[in-house]
Amino acid sequence: MVEIQVSTEKCDACNTCIDTCPVEVYEIKDGKSVPARQGECLACKACEAQCPNGAIQVTE
Ligand code: SF4
Ligand code: SF4
Repeated sequence: MVEIQVSTEKCDACNTCIDTCPVEVYEIKDGKSVPARQGECLACKACEAQCPNGAIQVTE
């Protein structure tokens, strides 16, 4: 099982994770990225690598 954590302090809603994720896990809610479809995650960790603010942690 994959767990995704997004730091609301670090996230500035830049949309990079939304553009990066191949299975559309993320959506922006109230100005922050939320892993709304976490169950779809493939644990490729592309979002974690691409987030410019280091706001995402993907753990398996
Ligand atoms: S890439 Fe990082 S800073 Fe940008 S919206 Fe996603 S979590 Fe937020
Ligand atoms: S690890 Fe990959 S599949 Fe999972 S949320 Fe990030 S980009 Fe999407």
